[in-house]
Amino acid sequence: MLTEKLDQIDRISLASLPTPIYPLKNVSRELGKSIWIKRDDFTGVEMSGNKVRKLEFSIAQALKEGADVLITAGGIQSNHARATAAAAARLGLCSHLVLEISKDPDTEGNYLLDQMFGAKITLLDENGDVSVSEKIEEIAEAYRQEGKKPYIIPVGASNGIGNFGYLNAFREIMAQEEKLGVTFDAIVCATGSGGTYSGLYLGNKLFDRKKKIVGVTVCYNKDHFTEVCGTIVNETLSLLGESPDEDKDFTFIDGYKGLGYAISKPDELRFIADIAAKEGIILDPVYTGKAFYGLYSEVKKGTFDSCENILFIHTGGQYGLFPKQGQMAEVL
Ligand SMILES: *Cc1c(COP(=O)(O)O)cnc(C)c1O
Repeated sequence: MLTEKLDQIDRISLASLPTPIYPLKNVSRELGKSIWIKRDDFTGVEMSGNKVRKLEFSIAQALKEGADVLITAGGIQSNHARATAAAAARLGLCSHLVLEISKDPDTEGNYLLDQMFGAKITLLDENGDVSVSEKIEEIAEAYRQEGKKPYIIPVGASNGIGNFGYLNAFREIMAQEEKLGVTFDAIVCATGSGGTYSGLYLGNKLFDRKKKIVGVTVCYNKDHFTEVCGTIVNETLSLLGESPDEDKDFTFIDGYKGLGYAISKPDELRFIADIAAKEGIILDPVYTGKAFYGLYSEVKKGTFDSCENILFIHTGGQYGLFPKQGQMAEVL
């Protein structure tokens, strides 16, 4: 019944799915616990990472409404903005990105790619008087005046619709558990705008799997995400014609955002390099590096003592490493 309902939600195909899951042998040996990774950084090259799973649903909605311009926002190195620009190019749509800046940006990493994908870009001073939503509305209105049909995708595509991305990723994980003959006791992801967490949480709830779904916050804090994810989860339930979730049991871990969103500390970069040397995988400095550092530290502290198999979602973001290459070189 539920799977049928989910299969009826409008979706376009953008990501290469399913993404692989395999154990991190060396880290597992070191921690005395089975740590597995799901490579959602393999969803594609241009649209790599978690946002493309959500965009499959957001853009389906946009197309249904006859949109010809996708408008979205993010930080200057936003993976979500880059994925949206790439998807728009593939589908023959226009994209317009509102990117928040604190200083003049260098043309590198995702910001370089945004321009290559032909996105229109509006830079917005993060300390200025105009809010992101005001700017987006102003841009959308200008397109409407021109006779175009803009569609606004919220930051991170984290709303009720985008949430189907990770609700379906949860189904993908259930199928992979069966194939691999393993049951994950916990699933851990980085939390930045809340959509990845909300989807996994709701999947766990609707399919009654009783896993621990853990979000490591890389900005804001627990209280913020409890509110944000509460709203997203109920929006999705409403789209499914289900009643709101009355007893949310979210698990967020604070303490690993370091100096703040998208700012790196030497120990975080050193950790990313250690994991690269130990497992041959590249984590990103903004999300997965901090989140995996969180998981690693919390396993050592005993927070996951009741869990045998833990699945970490690699949500992508590798292009964000290049703007930090100088800082990374210093810790090697
Ligand atoms: C956006 C992003 C996240 C955070 O996911 P949310 O759904 O926004 O919480 C994690 N990792 C990467 C690489 C991202 O780009």
